[in-house]
Amino acid sequence: SYVLGIETSCDDTGIAIVDTSGNVKANVLDSQQEFHTRYGGIIPPRAQDLHRARIHSAYERCLEEANLQPEQLAAIAVTTRPGLPLSLLVGVRFARHLARRLKKPLLPVHHMEAHALQARMEHPDAIPFPFLCLLVSGGHCQLAMVHGPGRLTLLGQTLDDAPGEAFDKIARRLRLYILPEYRLWNGGRAIEHAARLATDPSAYDFPLPLSQQRNCNFSFAGIKNNSFRAIRKKERMERTPPDGIISNYADFCAGLLRAVSRHLMHRTQRALEYCLQPQVRFFGDGQPTLVVSGGVANNDTIFANIQHLAAQYGCRSFRPSKRYCSDNGVMIAWHGVEQLLQDGDSSLRFDFDKVDIQGSAGFAASFEEQ
Ligand code: ATP
Ligand code: FE
Repeated sequence: SYVLGIETSCDDTGIAIVDTSGNVKANVLDSQQEFHTRYGGIIPPRAQDLHRARIHSAYERCLEEANLQPEQLAAIAVTTRPGLPLSLLVGVRFARHLARRLKKPLLPVHHMEAHALQARMEHPDAIPFPFLCLLVSGGHCQLAMVHGPGRLTLLGQTLDDAPGEAFDKIARRLRLYILPEYRLWNGGRAIEHAARLATDPSAYDFPLPLSQQRNCNFSFAGIKNNSFRAIRKKERMERTPPDGIISNYADFCAGLLRAVSRHLMHRTQRALEYCLQPQVRFFGDGQPTLVVSGGVANNDTIFANIQHLAAQYGCRSFRPSKRYCSDNGVMIAWHGVEQLLQDGDSSLRFDFDKVDIQGSAGFAASFEEQ
């Protein structure tokens, strides 16, 4: 059977249909990126207007692409948190309306959990529960033990910025967007590409954040502020015009990427050591497994570094295919499938009047704090 997934937590209108074996029947993604980059950031009421204007046609296109009738859907899954409340509301209202009209169950989805479970869609046998997950995205940085849908134990999270957010802000400050090839790219992708062009990759160095703390928390504000300072210093030295870019931007990007990678590895190492302790034995008799997910998991350097680290602990690492790392409707539909597989028919009792949005504040609620 088929599950429809609706994602409107931020600036992408994503609607997709996935079957219970994980085959993607349709995947419609309307990005607002081009619109928002013109204004230097997301304006929530504008994002809401764009979701409203696009959601109906996205739904129609999705059914058409899947070549299905709405009656053939088994359930509607929708992101209810965390995210921009105005944006979430558009998806939730649309999903409620559909579920009522079609008399189908409505499955609420936690956006970060959907990122965490997505890799299972493509590797169901290789990634059995439980597994360790490093969630790295535009709004979050978390390490969690994943027992099943709705059952995550948070080991640590960022105390300030998320890595994707830091990449985006630093890329803007660096003015990478004045280079035509990066004009429409997100900051993380532009920095990854520029870093490959470095001629002196060790020209910039950043201290390791939280190096003395023996836990799984993250901090990216220090790296961000050090970046701003280093860019300003170089701009002064070179007398860079206000619409120009420093000459060794590629070296800078390589240093930044190395700093972020090292921090992510350092914290993931703590989590692995914790999970493998004889008193914890989180993986039981199963093979230790790590999933890296969220938009920053697109980064080949970061993923290769994490994979290398995990391998030293006998742990295999996976990430979703690139097209599913960033926000999309497929991961929401797949989370719906996971809920159906876990709960069987009991989820059909779900009362859709109770499905409502919860803003970012409530996001940790589904995580059982460690
Ligand atoms: P959240 O999931 O926390 O609510 P989000 O949904 O906005 O945040 P995602 O869509 O998962 O975030 O990821 C977007 C982020 O991923 C952006 O900040 C972007 O800079 C980053 N990103 C995308 N591609 C890459 C890459 N190749 N390297 C590093 N970062 C990347
Ligand atoms: Fe996301």
